Amino acid sequence: MSGERIYLDYAATTPPDPRVLEAMLPYMTEHFGNPNSIHSFGRKARLAIDEAREKIAYLLNCQPSEIVFTSGGTESDNLALRGVAEAYRQKGNHIVTTTIEHHAVLRTCKALEDIGFSVTYLPVDEHGLVSPEQFAEAINERTILVSIMHANNEIGTIEPIAEIVKAVKEKRPEIIVHTDAVQTVGHIPVDIQELGVDLLSFSAHKFYGPKGVGGLFVRKGVRLLPQITGGGQERNRRSGTENVAGIVGMAKALEIAVKEMPTELPKLQSLRDELIAGVLRVITDSRLNGHPTQRLPHNANFSFRGIEGEVLLLQLDMNGIAASSGSACSSGSLEPSHVLLALGLDYELAIGSLRLTLGRFTTREHILRVLDLLPDIVERLRALNRSFKA
Ligand code: PLP
Repeated sequence: MSGERIYLDYAATTPPDPRVLEAMLPYMTEHFGNPNSIHSFGRKARLAIDEAREKIAYLLNCQPSEIVFTSGGTESDNLALRGVAEAYRQKGNHIVTTTIEHHAVLRTCKALEDIGFSVTYLPVDEHGLVSPEQFAEAINERTILVSIMHANNEIGTIEPIAEIVKAVKEKRPEIIVHTDAVQTVGHIPVDIQELGVDLLSFSAHKFYGPKGVGGLFVRKGVRLLPQITGGGQERNRRSGTENVAGIVGMAKALEIAVKEMPTELPKLQSLRDELIAGVLRVITDSRLNGHPTQRLPHNANFSFRGIEGEVLLLQLDMNGIAASSGSACSSGSLEPSHVLLALGLDYELAIGSLRLTLGRFTTREHILRVLDLLPDIVERLRALNRSFKA
C-alpha cells in the first residue's frame, strides 16, 4: 500500500478549504461578540453576518432577506417541510415528493404523515429521473407543497427542477416548491430565479465549508412556522445566537466554489469519466447507477454482482481508499439503499454498490490507483463469496 490515503467520499463531506478556515478564525478569536449585542463587539459580528448573507444571496441570485441561516441541510429540509406544512395547514394537507429523497426529507414526510398530512411518493425511472408530468398528475386541490431534490446524493442524477416547477405552477401557482440542493450548491451552477423554486436547502460542509452550518432560501411572501423558537433571530424564522464563524466560512466557501467552478467542473467531469470507463471496461458484471450524462460532475456509483458493498469498502479502506456504499449495516443485516431499490435494481445489485465521489483535491493519480486496485479486490471478494456458497 502506498503511503497516501485517497479520499473519494466528497459527497459525504468535503475537507474545509484552508482559505475558508483563514476567513473564519478571527470570528472565533478577537471578533467573538454576540451579533445581537449592541456594543462594538456585537456590531462587528453582525456586520460579518450581514456581509455573508449578501454574498450568498448574490451568488445564488436572491435577496439577502430571503436567506435563513441554519445548522445544515437536515435542519433546512425540516424547516422547509414542517414550516410550510404547519403554516398552510388550513389550505390543505397534501405533499408531493419522490422515493429517492434524502432521509432528511423522507423521514420528515413520514413524521408529517403521523400528524395527519398525506404524502405522495413519486417513483423514478431506471436512471433516477422523475418527470414534470408525474408532478402535474399527482397534484390535487389539497396539495400545499412539493419537495424534489436538485441532485441525488447517492447516484448523482440531476432532476429537471425548472421544468417541474413550471408544470406545478401551471396547474396551481400557489403550491410551494422546495428543492434540496445540498448536493448541487457549490458544485454546479445554481440560480434560484432560473430554477423558480420557493425554498432551497444548502449545507456548507458539502462545498468545502465547515460542518454544522447551512441555509434555507425562503422566497419573499412564503410563510413558515419557525421550528426553533427563542430570541427571534433570522427575522423570527430561526432563533438562536448565530454561528458567526460558520456563516462567514460558508460565504467564503461558496465564493471560492463559484469562482473556481469553470475550471473545477470540467476537471472533475473528465476524471470521473475516466474512472467510469475504466471500471466498466475491466470489471465484468458491473454497472453504472444513475443517469449516464445528467449527473453530478464528480459522482460515480457502481454495482458489482456477487459482492457486498460494505465488505468492499473495508477492503478499499485497508488499501488507503475512502469511499462509500449505498447500503447501511443495521442490526447485523445489510439494508440495501432505498435509492438503488427505487431504480429497480435487484437485492444483489443493490447491496453490491460503491459510490466514489471526487473533489477539489482529487488527482489523476488517485483515479489510476483505484483502477489499479479495484478489479483485483472485486475479483477476490467474488471468489470468496463463491467458495462460501460452494
Ligand atoms: N440532503 C442531501 C441531499 C444530503 O446529501 C445531505 C447530506 O448528506 C443532507 C440533506 C443533510 O445535510 P447535513 O449533513 O448538512 O445535515
